[in-house]
Amino acid sequence: MREGLSVLSSAPVVLDALPLRIDRDEVLRFQGYKKGLDVPTTEILALFDEAVRLGEALMAPRVVYRAIPVTGQYADTLEAGGETLHVPAIGRLWGPLQAVGVGICTVGTAIEERVRRLFDEREFPLAVMLDSVGSAAVESLAEYANDLLCQVAIPEGLRVTNRVSPGYAGWDTAEQQALFRLCPGAPIDVMLNSACVMTPAKTISFMAGIGPEARVDHYFTQCRRCWMAECAYRRAPAAVTVRR
Ligand code: SF4
Repeated sequence: MREGLSVLSSAPVVLDALPLRIDRDEVLRFQGYKKGLDVPTTEILALFDEAVRLGEALMAPRVVYRAIPVTGQYADTLEAGGETLHVPAIGRLWGPLQAVGVGICTVGTAIEERVRRLFDEREFPLAVMLDSVGSAAVESLAEYANDLLCQVAIPEGLRVTNRVSPGYAGWDTAEQQALFRLCPGAPIDVMLNSACVMTPAKTISFMAGIGPEARVDHYFTQCRRCWMAECAYRRAPAAVTVRR
């Protein structure tokens, strides 16, 4: 667990030196493979190994996080920090909240610069595989951040819900601007333009609900896919190998 990290921190906290889990199935899914149906060739697996080696050397995972007290909560709307966020069914899905936690996660620019160079050099298979490795890595980073918040919240008597992001679960992408006003990406060099495109591209923003009565496990049992190997509060065994 991160010493000194509070899930209710109102000051932005930067987390770095975070672990990544680059899941092969996830990377291949980004390439259009269907698990259990499409079997990757030996060449594809070798390409995956090469892209992972390259990606691990290039990525610098970082997260900026802060919590904002919830001032209003309705069926499809949350109010926090002077912003109104429209997330369908959020009142029912998350239950009563004390705060929202907003995080921005990135693996940095070096990987996309290398992907661009590989395309310029017409190394298309490796370029595409490395791009997918970056996508899977930032996804795993957001997952790790969500799990970490859950773990630090429990001793504080609080629960943390699954994350949602603008552009998913019916939440309008345009509200990315509101999310960035709540938690600017500048401390980790993430920018948002007027079209709601984040730079670096391998970046994920998220919001999670926080509160003693917040509803967890409503999409799926969070502990089953959680990374925290030594969590004293685990409610279910991990379905995949937990990284140690
Ligand atoms: S094992 Fe369960 S309780 Fe522990 S951090 Fe993970 S999701 Fe939270």
